[in-house]
Amino acid sequence: MTVTPDRPTPNAAAAPAGPTIIDRFVAANRDYAVTFQDGGMDARPVQKIAVVACMDARLDLFAALGLELGDAHVIRNAGGVVTDDTIRSLTISQRALGTRSIALIHHTGCGLLGLTEDFRRELELEVGQRPQWAVEAFVDLDGDVRQSMQRVRTSPFLPHTDDVRGFVFDVHTGLLREIH
Ligand SMILES: [Zn+2]
Repeated sequence: MTVTPDRPTPNAAAAPAGPTIIDRFVAANRDYAVTFQDGGMDARPVQKIAVVACMDARLDLFAALGLELGDAHVIRNAGGVVTDDTIRSLTISQRALGTRSIALIHHTGCGLLGLTEDFRRELELEVGQRPQWAVEAFVDLDGDVRQSMQRVRTSPFLPHTDDVRGFVFDVHTGLLREIH
């Protein structure tokens, strides 16, 4: 696949005609703040759990998992993969903020399923610099969930690895399937 981004045309520097999506965020936030009530919640997640999930726009974690505000740490990235930075967040989650359980959630139709590490080579050819990160592409969804669970369970930085479970979320049915 090509990784060439859309280039703005020279005269596209002028201000866009209508409000951008971020302008809409700012307006929506003003409305939100009108009825916002500070629940006085602690930074420590009530359910003592951290969820690592893909950034996929179809995955509404709070609704899908029955979570309430304040219940969980949610760590999201492309694929929901366990990278060094995911381990960084999980370590802080457990050691500084009291979580003990970890749920890993990948999903059907993930954008990473179609990619390969060629993505990095193409990127390097285009920009003249090889990214330091791995794409973490995968072809075996279940296998990748197992790999992620293994990375968490073997991390020397995490004190609590006895309640680590992995799932595949089906974007068509909304159901989780546990991976063992
Ligand atoms: Zn995904």
